[in-house]
Amino acid sequence: MSAGLTYLPPSGLWMLCPPSHKLCGGTAAVAKAISHDEGYGWGQVSANEEQGQEYHRLAADKLRVRLGAQDAARTDDLRYYDAMMDERTDQYCDEVMRVCRERYDSGQDVRVVIEEPFDLPLCDGIHCRGRSDCIIYTPGALDIIDLKSGRGALVSARCNHQLMTYALAGLELCADADPEIRLTIIQPALHSISTDSITRAELLVWRDEHLIPTARQTVEGTGSYHVGDHCRFCPARPTCRARAEQMQSYVASARHDPTSPTLALDDVAALLEGADHYKAWVDDIRKWATDEAMAGGQVPGYKLIIPRNGARKFVSEQAVVDAARRAGIDPYKRVLRSPREIELQVGTARYEAFFATLISSEACNPKLVPVSDPRPEYRPTKDDFDNRR
Ligand code: SF4
Repeated sequence: MSAGLTYLPPSGLWMLCPPSHKLCGGTAAVAKAISHDEGYGWGQVSANEEQGQEYHRLAADKLRVRLGAQDAARTDDLRYYDAMMDERTDQYCDEVMRVCRERYDSGQDVRVVIEEPFDLPLCDGIHCRGRSDCIIYTPGALDIIDLKSGRGALVSARCNHQLMTYALAGLELCADADPEIRLTIIQPALHSISTDSITRAELLVWRDEHLIPTARQTVEGTGSYHVGDHCRFCPARPTCRARAEQMQSYVASARHDPTSPTLALDDVAALLEGADHYKAWVDDIRKWATDEAMAGGQVPGYKLIIPRNGARKFVSEQAVVDAARRAGIDPYKRVLRSPREIELQVGTARYEAFFATLISSEACNPKLVPVSDPRPEYRPTKDDFDNRR
């Protein structure tokens, strides 16, 4: 990194909670995040992040092959390569090529840029640095395309700050004064292609009124703490006071009738609203306190113990096979792979063709969820009620 300059990644906690940057170690941690090209990734790369990076590597290789810029896509050095990764990166490339053809068909010159690094100056020596998955430049148009390999949460292109940052970087290299800007997120695991459009003027207003002030607050360590789902990615989450106060407010909200010795349904509903966050927070502080104790710290009123012997395991598998033969038993058992393992092995298309009719789903017990959940409501029958009494 150049002296005197601060680099921020094009996505991540700093955009959602500016003071988290300093709380988590500031520039050094972000430098690591940028080198991993991961918005949220601070410090060690998790298996999920590594898998995501491999998805992007393979998708970029395949795109270059389709565009005639590379002979073949390398898979031999990918730890997580399987039929599913192959199929989903193909789906991403299909969609990118469809957009390219659409632009070609309208008689335009098309320039495709894949995984191109960018360095976007924001203000006062603060830069945003990263690399966009794919940008398609055509006269009068700019397509910003991003691959999301995860299946945990659907990611929308609408007002997506990461893609808006890529678009700002793309504008720097765009010959047009006012191109049509289209933002697209392709998330093959959820069969989702999300698209939004934005004008150059709107992007510049967002840059001046939101991105630059947030970047400045991030580097200064000012601005407000903002608690939300993103906290699960924050290294400061076990000890962040703003998050602890938010958790306490969930408990404090159960005050429907303070004179009653029992909680009312309204109280329980208020507690349920924060229950998942609260559980995650307690798990985080328990793990953090255990790590502190393991490092020699004293947690008042607590001590470390070994609860029981760990799970048994064989010292030598070959010696066990030999011993089993002498004992006259077969040490192996054959088990079918799970539906998920088969789908991973053959990919979704072949799974649907060969196995879908052979698989049934067990009936699940009803689950209480917020009314905002998009799934249809289940109404218990009188039999359900009687069986549970
Ligand atoms: S835990 Fe959440 S509120 Fe606290 S610093 Fe991190 S992102 Fe911000």
